[in-house]
Amino acid sequence: MEASVYLESPMQPPGYPANEAERLAALASAQILDTPEDEAFNDLLRIAAAICRVPMAMVSLVDAERQWLKARIGIGVEETTRDESFCAHAILEPDRTMIVEDALEDPRFRANPFVQGAAGIRFYAGAPLLDRQGLPLGSFCVMDHAPRRLEPEQLRALEALSRQASNLIELRRLSIELRHHLVEREWYEQQLREQNADLAEMTRTDPLTGLHNRRAFSQALEEVAATGQRYAVAVCDIDEFKIINDLHGHAEGDRVLREVADVLRAQHAARGRLARYGGEEFVLLFPGIGTDEAVLQCEYLRQAIASLPLGVPVTVSIGVAAGGPGIRPEQALERADEALYAAKRGGRNRVVASGA
Ligand code: GH3
Ligand code: MG
Ligand code: MG
Repeated sequence: MEASVYLESPMQPPGYPANEAERLAALASAQILDTPEDEAFNDLLRIAAAICRVPMAMVSLVDAERQWLKARIGIGVEETTRDESFCAHAILEPDRTMIVEDALEDPRFRANPFVQGAAGIRFYAGAPLLDRQGLPLGSFCVMDHAPRRLEPEQLRALEALSRQASNLIELRRLSIELRHHLVEREWYEQQLREQNADLAEMTRTDPLTGLHNRRAFSQALEEVAATGQRYAVAVCDIDEFKIINDLHGHAEGDRVLREVADVLRAQHAARGRLARYGGEEFVLLFPGIGTDEAVLQCEYLRQAIASLPLGVPVTVSIGVAAGGPGIRPEQALERADEALYAAKRGGRNRVVASGA
């Protein structure tokens, strides 16, 4: 195209609809711009071209500064500027089909490059594509190289096919929205599952030492007892702990509790089999071993705690008892507790086995 042609007969660019911002938001929410070719739209165009007997047809979406073609027949380009777009004029009157019987006779299109150039458009009929609120997203249109008009039934068919194309766009939008909701819901459910897992773990954990609590220990004990194997349990109590609290304060007492817990944790491998049972009392579970071996291990623990460089002397007394077939778990714990009291009576800082 020579520039002089425009100067003599300037093209009239389309104006903007009053609700342009809303219209663009609706178009964006359809998430259809620059998407791959879709046979469903192509099929609608094939029907329209056959009924209207035209060589060109397109599904055009009018973006802020361009028209983008979701589907096209007999048209070489995928997008044009908005100024050159017939459809950008069509959307200015969303309620009616825009018909240009002869573009050379229409001052809006006479100088249009698609009229003057190789595309050679003379006839255009475009039925606006509307979203569910009636906002025009673009136009469903047919074109020809010669001036012409549409028969009433051709026009009705074009408008019906445009409505089908609008429905396709709306369906696409809904399915994207649905997918989005599903992903969101999956995310919330995952968060809930994680929170529940955290809460469940919290109800099993002692906040001061991070060890398992009595509830978690009881569960572990039941589980080991249910296997029918033999095992040993030990109850470990800090000696004269009240004095540490009284002399050095509660915060210092807490620190001692954490330090003792750390030693127990480091020496007693399975975390689930070690718990803070209450106050300054800990319990340990030794699956698969008898009292003698458990006493030996507890002796190591006792010595490790006694040699802690805490600034205050800290010792523990430990009672050990056997468990296994024929002994209820709580019975085993009671026996270990009795052994603990024997250790206290015996002078503290020692390990005593039940029945010893
Ligand atoms: P024994 O050798 O006979 O076990 O004497 P003890 O002083 O250790 O036993 P007692 O049961 O008389 O005192 C235990 C103290 O432990 C009393 C309580 O205030 C303290 N205590 C319990 N829980 C905590 C805690 O979480 N932090 C602190 N700092 N002290 C605690
Ligand atoms: Mg104590
Ligand atoms: Mg105690």
